[in-house]
Parts: sequence; structure tokens; C-alpha cells
Amino acid sequence: MTKLYLLLGGNLGDKKSVFAEARMILEKVVGKITAQSALYETEPWGFDSEDLFWNQVLEITTVLSPDEVLQQTQNAETGLGRIRKAYQYASRIIDIDILFYGELIINQANLIVPHPRIQERKFTLIPLCEIAPDLIHPVFQKNIRQLLDECTDPLKVVKVPDLPEAHS
Ligand code: AMP
Repeated sequence: MTKLYLLLGGNLGDKKSVFAEARMILEKVVGKITAQSALYETEPWGFDSEDLFWNQVLEITTVLSPDEVLQQTQNAETGLGRIRKAYQYASRIIDIDILFYGELIINQANLIVPHPRIQERKFTLIPLCEIAPDLIHPVFQKNIRQLLDECTDPLKVVKVPDLPEAHS
């Protein structure tokens, strides 16, 4: 059993339903969700868009290998994309990044873990810090709180208002 951290991100469609569906699929095919951050609303990173992003970090206990996790998260993205196509949205509705797979360091052509941009993005660090502040980044040998303190990303990351439906 390995503790896995995934980042969900998306800025299109009915984000509440898409995120709920993503969690349901991941729990079915990857493993039990043992912790989840609040939902955060984030300005787009690296490009302009009127649609704010939602992000959420999940901690999942899994028996799958890293490659199997990637396969399943990509299947989940595709599956949720089919919903997207039904509504004719233009771009990807959900992105699922593998942040950490235990303490493993992986440098394959198709999979880099820890995710190479964790330390650059507050939309990752803030939700991660909420559920795993003491987790040590195996490459930098710093915990998430330290990485967040050092991060200079200027984009705003705020919790989605604490309404009951935002957490379902
Ligand atoms: P993106 O379009 O940014 O979601 O990137 C998807 C591609 O990144 C896929 O082809 C994956 O094989 C690759 N990739 C590499 N490392 C990771 C990771 N840690 N989590 C998710 N995808 C990854």
C-alpha cells in the first residue's frame, strides 16, 4: 500500500459535478481517498482565461504501481472528457496530476514524480499544505510548509466559499 497525492484541476463546465465524479472514479479504480483538501479557486496559471480554475488535492492509499496509477488517471480524464464532449466544451475539463507516490522518485519519459512543478505553484502547494504540511519532498528534502513559504507564485488561490454543496 502506498500513499499517493493527486491534484485535480479544471476550469470548465459544472466543476462541482466534474470534481465529484472524478473523486468517485478515482476511489473506485485507484484506491481509498484518505484525505482531501478543500476546493480552491485559482486564477489561471500561465495563460489568460475568464474561467477560474478549481483545484483540489487528494491523498489516496493505493496498491497500484505508478504506471498503473497514470493509466487510471488518464482513463479518468478521458472518461470525464466524454462528458465534456456531450456538452460541447472546447478544452479539457479535468486534469489529474500525480504529485507524489510515497517517497519514490521517478524519471521516465511518460512520468515524472514528484511532479516537477509542485514547488512553483501555489494552487498545488496551498491545498497540499492543508492536508500534508509535514510531507517531505523527496528531491528537495523540504516539507510542504517550507516549500510554500519559499514559493513566489503571485497568483491568488482562495477557498471556494464554504457552502455545503461545494464539498459534496
Ligand atoms: P498535461 O497535459 O500537462 O496533463 O500532461 C500530461 C502528460 O504528462 C502525460 O502524457 C503524462 O504521461 C505526463 N506526465 C509526466 N509526469 C506526470 C505526472 N507526475 N502526473 C501526470 N502526468 C504526468
